[in-house]
Amino acid sequence: MADYVYIFDTTLRDGEQSPGCSMNVQEKLQVARVLDDLGVDVIEAGFPAASDGDFESVKSVGDLGLDATICGLSRTRHGDIEAVARSLDTAKNKRLHIFIATSPIHREHKLKMDKEQIIDEMTSALAFGQQWFDDIEVTAEDAGRTEIDYLVEYFQAAVDAGARVLNVPDTVGYVTPWESRKLYRHLRKHLRNAEDVVLSCHNHNDLGLAVANSLGAIEGGARQVECTINGIGERAGNCSLEEVVMALRTRHDRYGLETGIDTTRLYPASRVVTAVTGSQVQPNKAIVGRNAFAHEAGIHQDGVLKHAETYEIMKPEDVGVPENSLVLGKHSGRHAFSNRLETLGFSVDKEQMEELFVRFKSLADRKKSVYDEDIEALVLGNEQTGPWHLDAISIHTEVEDADQLAEASLKLRFNGQAPRIYTGRGDGPVNAIVNAIKTIIDEELHMEEFQVSAVSGGSDAQGRATVRATIGASRYQGTGVSTDIVEASAQAMVSIMNRHHQHQGSDVGASRIAAAI
Ligand code: MN
Repeated sequence: MADYVYIFDTTLRDGEQSPGCSMNVQEKLQVARVLDDLGVDVIEAGFPAASDGDFESVKSVGDLGLDATICGLSRTRHGDIEAVARSLDTAKNKRLHIFIATSPIHREHKLKMDKEQIIDEMTSALAFGQQWFDDIEVTAEDAGRTEIDYLVEYFQAAVDAGARVLNVPDTVGYVTPWESRKLYRHLRKHLRNAEDVVLSCHNHNDLGLAVANSLGAIEGGARQVECTINGIGERAGNCSLEEVVMALRTRHDRYGLETGIDTTRLYPASRVVTAVTGSQVQPNKAIVGRNAFAHEAGIHQDGVLKHAETYEIMKPEDVGVPENSLVLGKHSGRHAFSNRLETLGFSVDKEQMEELFVRFKSLADRKKSVYDEDIEALVLGNEQTGPWHLDAISIHTEVEDADQLAEASLKLRFNGQAPRIYTGRGDGPVNAIVNAIKTIIDEELHMEEFQVSAVSGGSDAQGRATVRATIGASRYQGTGVSTDIVEASAQAMVSIMNRHHQHQGSDVGASRIAAAI
């Protein structure tokens, strides 16, 4: 379809690779369901050979039975390809994504292979992958610094060997929109027998040009865009899915192209990814930022009230910004609660729904008004996905002159065993909690960042504690939500212990391989 642009989402692979955005399996599944509801064509679920943990998450996404094509990343080695095949054996629709570097610097220094050897390596990987996959995508890593004639030769070999999609990443975010358009035009013009082959772009945002470069690529003939929700990704991130989709839709007059995205699911998807990663969206971020549809200037407000199109090129409801923040309370029933969950973009099964409803009722007892932010926190805030569970916490503080002394006692359970009390002292409650946790962990624990913010408005608002910490050589982020900010802080620390535990369990003896595309 020449007038259709495939949306390839890599939030779970490229996005997840970025610092502070790592997700556990449950979080990845939540995001995968959201992406499928959104209507993305392809979900890149991960790089199965990177670690056992990555393999398990790709496998779990494959098992969900989603409509989207599930894609696994792979180097050219057979072990990688077999790992993708095994992890996706139950997926309804699946794709293998093979990458190898093509630029002179990578050929000489990293791969120590000449041009022909690289092409042989790629075509034999393709042939090996065809045992399991009809749908194979081939990437030229560091395409931006590859000689153009060699790039054509490399992709021609991929076409001849049966690749369906050719991806040309701008890994370092260096090109301009005009250069991007020129490159794709060149490829379209010089590749033979490639009428049914889709050209794909993968742009990074180091100069703030990822979306513009993707539009440039589309003008040059690309028909697949690799992108992420909220534009998360390494360094300055990837092309933002919501921006490129809304640019194509709003400027349909210029592009005349369609995507399969249900744009009314964009805002909920953004909120879910924000809540899962704890990585906040800047207020002035296009499409999904808090101020994206706020009109502050009086003359604008007046205009918008008289006729929305005077200052709005899109309507908030087009991207699923809820018209009002519906407030629930203790008299709200199951139906109202489950409706709101759906509006906010969550899909939960019956069992989860029952458990959430109990927690919702208990929250509504403590707090008069339950806002959307509280519901998001309920679903994602204190998910105990690990062996450690916080049963109770007590804090004792004394302030004398300027000196404060605090003692924290945490009642913790490990793997459902009988609870034990861990205590720590410090010059404040948070410091005391951290010192209590330090008595459990034998590696060095270092707090890098600690933030407490109100989840919603009102003086009875819940507090969300966000902690970034390193344990040994690994960096983790944890969040906790409670009407009591000290309890929220303890929950955040427990979530860090759980992440550390899972990380140790999944990566014993093998460091994770990062894909530089
Ligand atoms: Mn990338």
